[in-house]
Amino acid sequence: MSELSYPYEAPASQALFDRAAAVTPGGVNSPVRAFRAVGGTPRFMVSGSGPYLTDADGREYVDLVCSWGPMILGHAHPEVIAAVQEAVARGTSFGTPGEGEVALAEEMIARVAPLEQVRLVSSGTEATMSAIRLARGFTRRTKVVKFAGCYHGHVDSLLAAAGSGVATFALPDTPGVTGAQAGDTIVLPYNDLDAVREAFRAHPGEIACVITEASPGNMGVVPPAEGFNQGLKDLCSADGALYISDEVMTGFRTSRAGWFGVDGVVPDLMTFGKVMGGGFPAAAFGGRADVMAHLAPAGPVYQAGTLSGNPVATAAGLAQLRLLDDAAYAKVDAVSKEIQGLVTEALAKEGVAHRLQTASNMFSVFFTGRPVRNYEDAKAQESFRFTAFFHAMLAHGVYLPPSSFESWFVSTAHDERALQKIADALPAAARAAAEATA
Ligand code: PLP
Repeated sequence: MSELSYPYEAPASQALFDRAAAVTPGGVNSPVRAFRAVGGTPRFMVSGSGPYLTDADGREYVDLVCSWGPMILGHAHPEVIAAVQEAVARGTSFGTPGEGEVALAEEMIARVAPLEQVRLVSSGTEATMSAIRLARGFTRRTKVVKFAGCYHGHVDSLLAAAGSGVATFALPDTPGVTGAQAGDTIVLPYNDLDAVREAFRAHPGEIACVITEASPGNMGVVPPAEGFNQGLKDLCSADGALYISDEVMTGFRTSRAGWFGVDGVVPDLMTFGKVMGGGFPAAAFGGRADVMAHLAPAGPVYQAGTLSGNPVATAAGLAQLRLLDDAAYAKVDAVSKEIQGLVTEALAKEGVAHRLQTASNMFSVFFTGRPVRNYEDAKAQESFRFTAFFHAMLAHGVYLPPSSFESWFVSTAHDERALQKIADALPAAARAAAEATA
């Protein structure tokens, strides 16, 4: 492919984006898809196969987003598609219990030791929202601790970002979230156990739960420091609060037991989504049976969903999980390592200051010379270099997350040809990053 100026033309995507903008706010159904952080025309994809996506202009891209995590086997995996077709042929929704949801719950519980019971929902947002309600109902406390830079979906009380200082009562981060909804949320800097200790000291017996991404990927990849998650768990246990590990992103991706399989810290509650749905809207929360027993209809904390445990979604999720054996994780890890090596090599060759941070097979690149331990560090990067890097990769047929605050995702389907295409794209992208100006 010849060198292109960025952002380059994508006429069919542009026409669709114009149509979309007339009927949908900002032209997209989830904000980050709109390319606002990097500029240019979002690519409207028409099909996916293995590691590739094809856009409306007929261009093929190596996909390093994988639907923001779910497509760990690549797109249109034949066995997942077959399971979906078989399920669809039997009907798409019954509004009754069904065996598929039991089988999916059993598979999850068999993989993740702290999961004694799970409740299926349709999105990660629903999972975290419900887990927090349950934590409050169980503990009869109101306050929730979250960390700046951690994203748990668009739950009102969790759309509170950091104020400055150590233990800040957050202001709502978006119009539409009231002070009352955000006022019980305490936002703390990530990887700072002293701040958490101080919050428990300041609010003894008031904190219902601490929720954290098991290993954050929503400020770019910022893994927990050694002992951080265990420290959270210990502080929660000492105070009678619940420790909620949000594994929506890491669950069944970072190992067969998710991040729990990596650090072994036992949460009281966990949340899941993405990989467990096989590309369909399926998510879950679960954990200690004595806590889950408080959920309706077993207990008083209400939670429900018309499409929860949907038979097509559960069939897709179950098929995907059953294919995710040790060999599959070894493959994803190896692909990830190889791409990490290529990226570092290309950027180093151009003298671009960067940090490539990893959490198992999740990784992202920060354009900074300093380690990134929290959201403040992440924001200090030179994002303008990412913009140039992103568009150069796109122009050369590699689809990266359109923001420097996102994890990159790979799949078992990323083959030699896909890796070669990435390797071929990188020199120009690294040069673009080196030459970029703020
Ligand atoms: N929690 C984490 C860690 C996430 O990464 C996300 C989404 O990216 C969510 C929750 C929300 O999930 P959903 O987008 O399915 O509502």
